[in-house]
Parts: sequence; C-alpha cells; structure tokens
Amino acid sequence: MTNLTKEKAEKKVKALRKKIREHEYKYFVLDDPSISDAEFDQLMQKLIKLEEEFPELVTEDSPTQRVGGEVLDEFEKVEHSAAMLSLDNAFDAGDLRDFDQRVRKNLSGEDYQYVVEHKIDGLSAVMRYRDGSFELGATRGNGEVGEDITQNMKTIRSLPLKIEEQAEMELRGEIYLAKSEFQRLNEERLENEEAPFANPRNAAAGSVRQLDSKIAAQRSLSILIYDLISHSTREFETHLEVFSYLKELGFKVNWHQAAADIEAVIEICEHWQEERESLDFEIDGLVIKINNLSLREKLGSTARSPRWAIAYKFPAQQKTTQIKDIEISLGRTGALTPTAILEPVELAGSTVSRATLHNEDEIKRKDIRIGDTVLVQKAGDIIPEVVKVIKEERDGSEKEFKMPDQCPVCGGEVIRPEGEAVTRCTNISCPAQRKESILHFVSRDAMNIDGVGPALIEQLLENNLIEDYADLYFLKQSHLKDLDRMGEKSSQNVIEAVEASKDREFFRVLYALGIRHVGIGAARILAANFNSIEELQQASAEELEAIDEIGPVIAESIFGFFKERHNRDLLSRLKQAGIRLQKKESESTKFLEGLKFVFTGSLNNYSRSEVKDLVEKAGGRAVSSVSSKTDYLVTGDNPGSKYDKARELGIEILTEEEFKELIEEKNSSEN
Ligand code: AMP
Ligand code: ZN
Repeated sequence: MTNLTKEKAEKKVKALRKKIREHEYKYFVLDDPSISDAEFDQLMQKLIKLEEEFPELVTEDSPTQRVGGEVLDEFEKVEHSAAMLSLDNAFDAGDLRDFDQRVRKNLSGEDYQYVVEHKIDGLSAVMRYRDGSFELGATRGNGEVGEDITQNMKTIRSLPLKIEEQAEMELRGEIYLAKSEFQRLNEERLENEEAPFANPRNAAAGSVRQLDSKIAAQRSLSILIYDLISHSTREFETHLEVFSYLKELGFKVNWHQAAADIEAVIEICEHWQEERESLDFEIDGLVIKINNLSLREKLGSTARSPRWAIAYKFPAQQKTTQIKDIEISLGRTGALTPTAILEPVELAGSTVSRATLHNEDEIKRKDIRIGDTVLVQKAGDIIPEVVKVIKEERDGSEKEFKMPDQCPVCGGEVIRPEGEAVTRCTNISCPAQRKESILHFVSRDAMNIDGVGPALIEQLLENNLIEDYADLYFLKQSHLKDLDRMGEKSSQNVIEAVEASKDREFFRVLYALGIRHVGIGAARILAANFNSIEELQQASAEELEAIDEIGPVIAESIFGFFKERHNRDLLSRLKQAGIRLQKKESESTKFLEGLKFVFTGSLNNYSRSEVKDLVEKAGGRAVSSVSSKTDYLVTGDNPGSKYDKARELGIEILTEEEFKELIEEKNSSEN
C-alpha cells in the first residue's frame, strides 16, 4: 500500500503514464530506447500497483491495458465508413508505364507526383481515434464489414493508445509480425510441439484473430500506418503532408518516398526488389499512390480498386514443380536431413533444384511423396522449401518416403531419440562428424589435450594419420614432424600431452566420448553410479532411468551409443591404448552426488544460503519442496508442514546436528 490520497495517486498515475508513453514511443516507434528494459518494467510495475490500489483510476488508454483483457466469445462486426478496396497490380516496368498513361489521360494535363511505399505483407486494419484516445480497431473483412479487434490491437506497442489530438479520425495501416519475432515464435512452437506457422503473415493473422488478447499480447505484433481516411477538423493537400502529420502525432508511419514521375517510381521499385531482404518485415511489393489528394478524388475508384494507386508486385517467390527424388544429406552433427531433388525451376531470379524437407515429421505433416507436384518457395537467402503438395496432381505413382535405418555415409546405425524430430548417425567416427567429435574429445573439460587444436586435427584427418580420437593415442612423433608448423619441439609436446591425458578422471573420459546429451553434469552423475565403462555398457535402460537426473532421452542416447559397432570398436582401441576407462580407488566423485535435500525450520549453525552451498559443493541439490524424489529432509527448530509430508512419504529425516556430522565427516575423509 502506498497510503496516498486519491488526488495524489491520480497525479502520480498521470505522470507515470506520460513517462511510459514517451518510452514506448522511443522504443517501438523510433527504435531508439533511452532506458533499459528493466527500468521500463519498473515504471510499468509502479503503474500497475497504483492502478490495483485505485481501480477507479484505470482508463482504457492506460499503458497497462496492453497486456490483454477478457476472452471474447466472438468478434463484433464493424461496418467500414468507406469500403476497403483492393489494389490493381503491376508486374513489370511496362505495367507501371501503362498505369501512368491512364493517370495522365484521366487528369488531362494536370501536374501530378507519386509517392512510393512498401507493400507490407500483413493484414490491413482500420483504427478510429476519438477525443485523443484509441477507440476502435477492425480488420478489413470483406471490405465492407470487418471484425472488431480493438482488444488485440491495444497490445501493439507501437500503436499509441492516446494522442494529442481531440478530433475524430480514421486511419489505415498494416499489422504484421517482424521476421525476427516470427522466428522466435516458431522456435517456441516447435519446442512446445505445436505446428509452426508457414510464414509471418499467417502468424500475424492467427494472432490478430485470437479471442484471448493475452495470447495476442505475447506475439509482439507491429503496425505501420499508411493512410488517413477521415479527420473531423483538418484538411490536407497531399499524402506527404498526411504522413508528416501522423508522424508528429507519434504514429509509426510506413516508409515512403516521393517520385517526380513514373521513371523515378520504376527505379525505386527496382531498388527494393534487390533490397527487400534487408528489412525485418516481409514486403511483397510496393504501392504507388498519387500524392495530391484532390487529384485522387478526381481520379476516383472502380468498384474494385482506386484509379490513383497501383501495387507493384515482386516476381513470384513461389512456384510449382515436381519432386524427382528425396536424398539424405548429413550435417556436421550427424543429423540426417532429407532433401527434395526438384525438377529445376526459376524462382526469384535463380534456378532452384533442391529444397530442404527438414526432417521426417515435416514430410509426414505435409504428406510429401516422391513424384509429387509441390509448391516451392524461396525467400531471400533462406534455403528453398516445400510449402505444400498439390494433391490434385497425384496419379497414384507417387512413392512414400522412408527414413533409412543406416547412415548413407558410413553405414552406421541411426537413431531418432524419443521426443526428437531429428534422426542421427550414432557413429562417432562417421566422416560427417569426425572433426567435431575429436575437437570435443581434446577440449578442456574433456581430455584437455593441449596443443591439439582445430588446425592440427584438420591436417591429421587430411593426411589420413587419424580417423577418430582413439587414433590420437597411436600417433608417433615421426608422423607429426613434417606437418605444417610442427617442428621437433612442438610434435614432442603433442605426444606428451596425449600421453598425459590417459589418466584423466573417469567422468571426463565419459564426457569426452561425445555421447549425445551427456554433458559434463550427466557424465559426473554416471561416474558416481558406475565404476567402469563395462558397468555402464551393461546397464539396462531401466537401470539408467532409475537414476534421478538421467531421463529417457539420455538413457536412450547412451544405449544407442554402445549399440553402434564403430563405437564399440573405438572403445576397445581406447582401452588398448591404455586410457583408464574406470574409476580409480581414490577417485571420489562427489559424495552427495545426485541427492536432493530439503530444509525446514530455523537452523542454528548455518544460514539457508550456506547449507545450499555446502550441499551443492558436494554435488547434491537443495530444493524447496518435499516430494517422493527427496532424499533427505533436514529439520531445524519449529519445522513446518514439510516435516509431516516427509514422514508421510517415508523420507529420511536428519536433525541439523546429523546434517552437520554428515558434512564434516565426509569433508575430513576426503582431505
Ligand atoms: P491486394 O490485397 O493485393 O489487392 O492489396 C491491397 C492490400 O495491400 C491492402 O488491403 C493492404 O492490406 C495492403 N497494403 C500493404 N501495404 C500497403 C500500403 N503501403 N498502402 C496500401 N495498402 C497496403
Ligand atoms: Zn554416419
């Protein structure tokens, strides 16, 4: 509570809103923030608190309204004050010149200029402002009647909810999703096992039509304003004037450039056709409009589109073609990536003959078969991809694709771990991943072999001196001496470093093997539970999964690793070379490794952060609530309900004294 009077609070709220609006403007409209995100959040939190304390001060145009509100049953219908028309299209310079001829004729000698704008590939929207507040936002719908998406539009941070203009006015603009935001969103969706959106436009459309504006708020939509339809108190002569007026009011206006004649327009179009990829949003062309507003009126519209504007459309980036075959290519990490071999097509200025199919699921989801006619798309430097199958073109001769069960490069075993989309070659010595796995093997946390870096590894592979990391142990100085930058001394050093690594701790060896998903942490846990590589190799999946920190993904990966013939061969050569593949007697893994502790009540000897430290240093974990996975509950004075719960679950309970003994005893035996 702030103990403010309502009058004081109101003043504060107003000042805060003003400040927040200024920063929103700087951040979202100008792309030039002057405070950090954290500072901005603080201002917002302050405002939220005050509005919670004084709900009567909440207004519709408060910045707090951007987080989304109640869930709607359906969108209300909105009749447009003026029909939202389409635009005529031009596909080349000839079409543009024809358009100019028509304009010239219709204006019978009057002087005119053009304004060229980006044609943003999003969704058009209208906005109404009244008395300085954003009042209504609607979709285009069928052009006559759209849908009320006011709540969702309020979440668009670059759209001012309040402006310094008391008039009634109506604007138009394009809602879109930035490419970067689209990518983030799709990554998130893949993680949550939701189908990714096909393109930013679809993603934006899906977000705009969310009945729950809280979801829309999480999607970070943007808007660019490109037109003023009506204004109750002002008149404007030109489109350029309108733009500078709107900009002044704090709107994020669409990019625009004046052009004296159609040849200048053509130049601008050609420029953006080349440069479109430099923008963080998708444009599918440019819109060319007459600058003078009274001339627009004179030109008027057909039923379908205005005569004073035209859309210049970039050449298609999508075309249909046929899939001749599906090949597997292998990535550096051993991922098997299916690639469609296409009947070559011209797409956006280049010939396309391959398209990535990503992975098995993607092929299933799109039901892609060999022989299918498909729509392919290429967007800038992105690898061409298959958008969809044209199923009507099927004649029954199409063949379903099956992922091979052997690596096409080395013939090794491939696995697709549960819950993962990617199929991988499990053979660590597979040529596709040799260098990576050797680099990992020699890295600091693994075998820490000094002097064996990327350049040397490359040379060794190229000269066929090694094929995998086990071969490092069979190198002789005579092999090395003649390599680049490898004199007597440095070759000697390499041999010694390799030799010294033979006695690394067991968990580091486990880590060095490069078993997928076995990071240094998992390797420690494995070493705490198994004394040798043989023990680990003989462990069943159930035994592995019974270890708290080892989930099914890691278990399966370990299993797959040992199953692979090449890997077993690799291990036996490591053994032959004299690498220690077991724990030393004295090799204490941390003694609380893998154990979970919960503390309750007040402790006399330690603070909470001290006990947490002690437990973690010993490899255990201090967690906050008791569950069946808890190993020990440590009780101080006046223990809470955790005590009852632990007893119920039969969890071992230690007094503070017993905990102290445990820690001290172990520490002394280790030193
Ligand atoms: P079309 O749907 O191809 O006939 O083109 C008309 C649509 O282009 C409009 O409904 C808007 O959604 C969109 N558009 C994108 N950028 C602009 C712009 N700068 N000016 C006018 N319309 C635009
Ligand atoms: Zn392979």
